[in-house]
Amino acid sequence: MKKSVNEAWRVLRMPCREYAALVSRELDGPLPLLSLAALRTHLLVCRSCRNFARQIRFLHTAVRRLPERGPASDEGMPEEVRGRLRARMNEIQP
Ligand SMILES: [Zn+2]
Repeated sequence: MKKSVNEAWRVLRMPCREYAALVSRELDGPLPLLSLAALRTHLLVCRSCRNFARQIRFLHTAVRRLPERGPASDEGMPEEVRGRLRARMNEIQP
């Protein structure tokens, strides 16, 4: 019992940079219960970490919504432009 109380106390006293690491780890998967509880508690009282969490979650969501970038495609390019590009490529690399 004393060991778990000490661990809880240690986690609650972690510096903000360690909470920032927890915020990032939480994006990769579920945190252990004690870490999750400590993080939630810290975010209630620390505006800096709350702002960081909001920003990193926004970026994480934005990156996930980006389309996968496939190979370059000339789809949608007018035939005239394609022809000029082919001619120019042939001049450079006959
Ligand atoms: Zn903090």
